[in-house]
Amino acid sequence: MLKSSPRDEQTANTSSIPSTASGEASELSLDDWLRKFGRMYGKRHEKHTTEYMISRLVEEVAELVNPMEAQDRSQISPNLADVFSWICSIAYKLNIDLPTVTWEKYGTNAPRPISSTPSEVKQPGTLESYSHPRTLTDWQSFISQVYRAENARLSPMNALVAMMKDVGDLAMIHRKRESQKEVTLKLAAILAWTLTIAQLLQLDLSTIVNEKYDNQCPECGKEICDTDVCHPFKTMFVSFGRNTSDEEKYVILDSATKRGFKTLVNPAPDLESTSELSTSIDLINNSDVACIVLSTKGTGSDDLKATYRQIFESLASYAMLSKGDIWVFTKDPSKDLESFLKTAFKAEGIEAISYVDANHLNALFDRCLSDLDRKRDMSKG
Ligand SMILES: [Zn+2]
Repeated sequence: MLKSSPRDEQTANTSSIPSTASGEASELSLDDWLRKFGRMYGKRHEKHTTEYMISRLVEEVAELVNPMEAQDRSQISPNLADVFSWICSIAYKLNIDLPTVTWEKYGTNAPRPISSTPSEVKQPGTLESYSHPRTLTDWQSFISQVYRAENARLSPMNALVAMMKDVGDLAMIHRKRESQKEVTLKLAAILAWTLTIAQLLQLDLSTIVNEKYDNQCPECGKEICDTDVCHPFKTMFVSFGRNTSDEEKYVILDSATKRGFKTLVNPAPDLESTSELSTSIDLINNSDVACIVLSTKGTGSDDLKATYRQIFESLASYAMLSKGDIWVFTKDPSKDLESFLKTAFKAEGIEAISYVDANHLNALFDRCLSDLDRKRDMSKG
């Protein structure tokens, strides 16, 4: 039953993804869609943490609320397509064989969104009752068959609320570093909700996904999307440590400005209240890249406050921005903050860059920005 995951087949099969001149999209298998989003966004998502990708899925699902309340189908369709694209991208990133997992999950032990009264309980369909769905249209009809009784009483809004709960669960399961199996099953549930919502609204998910994502990114029009081109960088969040010298501050701000960045610096050096954390969040939210010069950890209470603020800002930057676009500098790598970050982001392989003085910091930061420019030029060429 288990077959090789989409990622394993990626190299061999990328070229064999059927072209999707309109009309042929309905022939694409769920595997084909996974590979297609893998090819289109795999490069872009290499730089994203899984936290970031899940937070984008949360946003996309939340964006369905208004059009669904207004029953505005023209807005629901592209948003539902976005939800599907993030499901595929997360599955691709985590190397999840979504078709197999979804097939194994449904049919026998599918969760029931609305509990049936005992007299209405029917035997759920077993896997044997269905032929293995292949295309997205097959999957949509498979899931709607499995949930035929429930769906008859389910409004699209109720289905959306249930999907939001599962998306929240996914974020929590991932944050708590629970097993990959839990993540996998939750992602299958979110796929099932996406198919269910399409079914309840009498939309064909295959058609609406293909309308938005043919063979290229709808934003940059490229077959292989790269954040650096698709979303050019203009704004840099900057965080200085409590004992960062004026000279060190100057070289960072000067280099950033020379490269055309607008810089956003948190004006509060210490953490006096939680409102300063929301200031940091707002600034990071409005930034494309981040530069964090860590405090050397002192023992005074002000030093600790500054350290907490920077731990928070580092975590927020990694959750909200691409990992290749965050530079963390440290003057004293032996101190706790850097090792804390290393541990917190072990899976992502994130390290702070050590520097000795302002000149050294200048050279290192310049190299980071040159690398970024080169990367962007290469993508453009
Ligand atoms: Zn793009």
